[in-house]
Amino acid sequence: MSGEEERKALVDLLCRTGMIKTERVRRAFLKVPREEFVLPEHRPYAYFDDALPLFSGQTISQPSVVAFMTEALQVENGQKILEVGAGSGYQAALLAELDPDGIVYTVERIPELAEYARRNLERTGYRNVRVVVGDGSLGLPEHAPFDRIIVTAAAPEVPRALGEQLSEGGIMVIPVGPRHSQRMVRVSKKGGRLTEEDLGFPVVFVPLVGEQGFRA
Ligand code: SAM
Repeated sequence: MSGEEERKALVDLLCRTGMIKTERVRRAFLKVPREEFVLPEHRPYAYFDDALPLFSGQTISQPSVVAFMTEALQVENGQKILEVGAGSGYQAALLAELDPDGIVYTVERIPELAEYARRNLERTGYRNVRVVVGDGSLGLPEHAPFDRIIVTAAAPEVPRALGEQLSEGGIMVIPVGPRHSQRMVRVSKKGGRLTEEDLGFPVVFVPLVGEQGFRA
């Protein structure tokens, strides 16, 4: 099977299992070449529904989890989006593909990974993504507020800074819980108030390490 056929087979699986629900997200998954974001030695597994190791002990998340979070985020056209945890840059590429008129900021605490994400995004042609090195548990106050925030690392609780940087009517998706098991939470802001909704989707993410996350 070619890369494209493998990608289509994975997308079909994600649709059948209900992880991809909308045509818009389906199209984005069909466009973004995950093989360009995994390490070269893992290319043969790029279209398995598995998380894969990157380096510095980090991972590119499992496609079904990425699909679930991307759907839950309900991205609209022309939005300002913050991702915390750039990793390989794959999730950021999907967001950029979903919203070509918007802008995606993705923060990564490990400089070598930020550089890896930047290179992957450049090679695959995603120009509406900015990769920033820093502690994403504090958000990115200089670019706030954000219409959407997606956190792709596990937080002990919703970081206060991220709640503050969510725009009115905004949505944040974040895995919340102890180090070894979390629940996926959607946070909405209305009338200046944050509401948390448990999406009933248990996950295990690498920790969000930072001032408003876990200690290293
Ligand atoms: N979204 C990524 C992708 O598409 O490849 C996968 C993210 S990986 C599961 C989690 C990432 O979060 C790691 O790269 C890790 O270094 C990063 N991370 C952890 N704590 C962070 C923090 N406080 N700020 C920014 N990035 C952080």
